[in-house]
Amino acid sequence: MPRVGSVQPDAGGPARPLPGDDTGAMPSLLRRLRATWHGFADRSRPVHPETARALRERWAALPAHVQTPAQTLGRHAVGCEGTHGVFPKCNLTCTPCYHSADANKVRVDGGHTLREIESQMSFLRERRGPYAHAQLIGGEVSLLSPDDHAAALQAMRDHGRSPMSMTHGDFDPEYLRDLVTGPDGTLRFDRISFAAHVDSLMRGRRGAVRPRSEAELHPFRQQFVQMFRDLRAATGLRYYLAHNMTVTPANLGQVAETVRAVLPMGFSMMSFQPAAHVGDDRRWKESYTAVDADAVWAELEKGLGQRIAHEGIEFGDPRCNRLAFGFLAGGRWTPFVDPDSAADRAARERFFAHWGGLAFSGTPPLLLLVKIARVLRHHPDDAAVAARWFARLLRRAGGLRHLVRAARAGTLGLMTFEVHSFMDAADVGPAWELMQQGVESDDPRIRATQERLAACTYSMAHPETGQLVPACAQHSVLDVTENAQLRRLLPLTVVG
Ligand code: SF4
Repeated sequence: MPRVGSVQPDAGGPARPLPGDDTGAMPSLLRRLRATWHGFADRSRPVHPETARALRERWAALPAHVQTPAQTLGRHAVGCEGTHGVFPKCNLTCTPCYHSADANKVRVDGGHTLREIESQMSFLRERRGPYAHAQLIGGEVSLLSPDDHAAALQAMRDHGRSPMSMTHGDFDPEYLRDLVTGPDGTLRFDRISFAAHVDSLMRGRRGAVRPRSEAELHPFRQQFVQMFRDLRAATGLRYYLAHNMTVTPANLGQVAETVRAVLPMGFSMMSFQPAAHVGDDRRWKESYTAVDADAVWAELEKGLGQRIAHEGIEFGDPRCNRLAFGFLAGGRWTPFVDPDSAADRAARERFFAHWGGLAFSGTPPLLLLVKIARVLRHHPDDAAVAARWFARLLRRAGGLRHLVRAARAGTLGLMTFEVHSFMDAADVGPAWELMQQGVESDDPRIRATQERLAACTYSMAHPETGQLVPACAQHSVLDVTENAQLRRLLPLTVVG
């Protein structure tokens, strides 16, 4: 038993009486207060040291051509993450489909999903630090039971990931309710994120088995959002919704009309993927080379009837990603960073230098305020810079009155536009193989592919090899073997 007048031993060594201590109560209280203070000081550091380390490593490894003033990768963002091999099966068919031919022969198994997610997320936490956006992706996430889906999201959150479930959206409101509420009826999460992939290249959706146009799918898009609206009205649950659409020559001409229809629905992001020749080649119905990011962006701008300035922020290689962060007010979109404004560009530079890596989303509001105060303590001028940036933003958006009117009408909200251009497996295969040998290709096309892979913003974890693998390499190279193995591990039918 410890004697009175001593303090309890801690990990640092044996108990020793403190000078002037004859009861032990006060020093023990002081020690606890000091520990609490140190814990708070640690948690309120603007940027976690592991995030800072991951950012430094990321920046140093980027090819020189993407180390631009607008580049956010390695300065503010470590990049996005996605799961793989956790539930490969899907119950719709897409043309094209990025998953390998064996994916639909793998049984959905909650135990396997959770084990894999635990392993992949631990690895990402170790390599990428305590905060990142991660997609719960594979085949169709709603084929998981609501409890397994919820456990998967919780496991991702436990590892500091901000998860987004990727779905075709063809599930019932009951599934969503069971996902977000525990057995005792209380909410399991304070916020939930989903990306719904909806386009006319998909077959098998209930009520639109073979859609002939994008317009035919608008009611399904709206129904998807409505499920979340109803849930929020009933439970107060906050949500973030993205709309994903694959684009081929078959539906390129319908992008503008789809944008006009989807914008007022309540999504906060519209993401487009020009189709690539990757995955199951039985589902390649046409040549996809005619559709690129420029073609999709032109349709997007046509749909909005205005320029969508994306040059203010880069995310990885511009041949892979084109992103425009901003907000909608009364149907008019305004970018957070105006690439034509020298003052905005200077403010962006300050942001990356002083605020880069700070997790603005996912941090509790009070803690975020303390973090902000700690940055301002060292960079007090940033407050004035931010105020001037905000004033410019207001002017660009049409003024305060316009925003207030938009807020009252329910037409004010964040809106990010994205085009993400996956690459063809025929290029990624040789590029990735050479990269494993540390060889730079002589072939300009393969070398360009290598440059893009080196600046990849969308990584998948391979704890078994210690690698972070670009999603392009995952789908072009690794999925084939992985799904063949999973087909044996989790067979739908017995295979020889
Ligand atoms: S390499 Fe592939 S997965 Fe990575 S950012 Fe580029 S297109 Fe996306």
